[in-house]
Amino acid sequence: MDVDTVVIGAGAVGLACAAELARRGDAVLVLERHAGFGRETSSRNSGVVHAGIYYAPGSLAAATCVEGRALLYARCRRDGIAHRVTGKLIVATREDELAALEALEKRGLENGAGALALIDGAEVARREPAVRAYAALVSPESGIVDAHGLCASYAAEARRHGAALLYRSEVVALEPIPGGWRVEARGPDGARARLDAARVVNAAGLWADRVARLAGAELPAHRFAKGDYFTVRRVRTSALVYPVPSEAGLGIHLTVDLGGAVRAGPDVEWVDAPRYDVDPRKAACFAEALRRYLPDVRDEDLAPDGAGVRPKLHGPGEPRADFLLDARDPGLVHLLGVESPGLTASEALARRVAAHLARA
Ligand SMILES: Cc1cc2nc3c(=O)[nH]c(=O)nc-3n(C[C@H](O)[C@H](O)[C@H](O)COP(=O)(O)OP(=O)(O)OC[C@H]3O[C@@H](n4cnc5c(N)ncnc54)[C@H](O)[C@@H]3O)c2cc1C
Repeated sequence: MDVDTVVIGAGAVGLACAAELARRGDAVLVLERHAGFGRETSSRNSGVVHAGIYYAPGSLAAATCVEGRALLYARCRRDGIAHRVTGKLIVATREDELAALEALEKRGLENGAGALALIDGAEVARREPAVRAYAALVSPESGIVDAHGLCASYAAEARRHGAALLYRSEVVALEPIPGGWRVEARGPDGARARLDAARVVNAAGLWADRVARLAGAELPAHRFAKGDYFTVRRVRTSALVYPVPSEAGLGIHLTVDLGGAVRAGPDVEWVDAPRYDVDPRKAACFAEALRRYLPDVRDEDLAPDGAGVRPKLHGPGEPRADFLLDARDPGLVHLLGVESPGLTASEALARRVAAHLARA
């Protein structure tokens, strides 16, 4: 074998896997088709450290979010990654949403999302003067992180333990061979190179379903749910503020970045293929959704920001699918459907991947 383990994809999840496997003694090679790490979903998200409130108890998303949050904050403190434990308010704007908050509190406590508390509208106004609500669920453990800094920390740890990162290398074929996998990658000049690895981790994000098909795995295809962001001028909050979630998603929420700027989004727009344009005409729609709990925001306070695309294993109107970690082929692990809270969960997912490969 040329290497012990090839990791396909240098996003947060692939890099976390590379760091974990290299730390355990594997000779690791990361193949990434872009010219650097974190150029896709890992740099197109809200940068929120989720506490683990929303996900179905017992799901992989719930378990890795809760475990990953603790690992992430510990990594941030150890490696000096910029982050802030801002806390989060999930706000009910009407009395009839109170039951939904209580259900979220119960689910969050069951998941291990840390301390949670219900507060009334007066307390919401005291904490966040710009926000109007009937009540809110407070999650003090939620926060924000510099996603690029997180990826850089994983990459540095992987390299420190001998891993190599090869950019501009797109994996185009995967073939089983005795004791491992033959991996074929295409370089920037179109030239193809092959190498043999005992183990392969498919952490190709949006494209992980396609990479799985290269290996002949019959796994579900990704659906793409684009999410747009708008910068919010004039209005300030110090915590993250989310509405009560609906079937469609978490709802248009407010996040703050490490510089204190407020962003609204992401929405949910099902698209046939990933794209990252933001339609400025959506501003009015966003402002209307925000005014439910941010009454002073005006349409003209919103300016288009970036967009990201979630790889989903369910379609519109269907119940939320869990992360999929498929390890049915010896020496090969696929990670599909790693949408939010994938950033938070990255190190915990990496530990599970390493455990599966160690057993194989
Ligand atoms: C709008 C939005 C908001 C989000 N907000 C949050 C949040 O606040 N908190 C949170 O915890 N999570 C959030 N997430 C989820 C989180 O961003 C992702 O789960 C996480 O970044 C996924 O990382 P990844 O490494 O799996 O994928 P990616 O970062 O997409 O990395 C995959 C990499 O694989 C590479 N690749 C693909 N195919 C190949 C190939 N054939 N050969 C070589 N390389 C290949 C790609 O170029 C890419 O670099 C959000 C996601 C979105 C879309």
